[in-house]
Amino acid sequence: MARVFIGVGSNQGDRLANLSRAVQRLGATAGIRVVQMATIYETRPVGGPPQEDFLNTVVEIDTSLPPRELLSAIQAVEVQLGRTPSREQWGPRAIDLDILLYDDRVVQEPDLVIPHALMHERRFVLEPLVQLAPDLVHPVLRKTVSALLND
Ligand code: AMP
Repeated sequence: MARVFIGVGSNQGDRLANLSRAVQRLGATAGIRVVQMATIYETRPVGGPPQEDFLNTVVEIDTSLPPRELLSAIQAVEVQLGRTPSREQWGPRAIDLDILLYDDRVVQEPDLVIPHALMHERRFVLEPLVQLAPDLVHPVLRKTVSALLND
């Protein structure tokens, strides 16, 4: 079993319902067990066109799925929640799921980067993550999550 942290965000439609449906669907996926979820944060969008504020949180899961299968699984949840593939990269979205950390694995592939490339710069990721795992060490930057938040 791998210990994995998933970032969850929504800034379209019923944002709170989107977050809870996403977590529910994740937990209903074979090979994924939801362990705990952080507080929900409301945050201003970073970059992109003018758009609604996001609700963001982080969920800890146990999973038997390897990283690439986990990526497919979270993408399937995004599609089930009505995410359309043809949207702007930084545009509004009903649901956005990101693999933040996967044990202490480092993956560098064109379509999959773990730890997530921007997680250490985003307070809306670090604040909920620090609630769940303050002492977890980022395997590339070699700093704890709480040290990253205080940088
Ligand atoms: P986004 O628009 O931010 O949701 O980006 C989606 C794309 O990011 C997907 O097509 C993934 O292949 C890619 N990607 C790269 N690394 C990750 C990751 N750690 N978690 C989720 N998606 C990732």
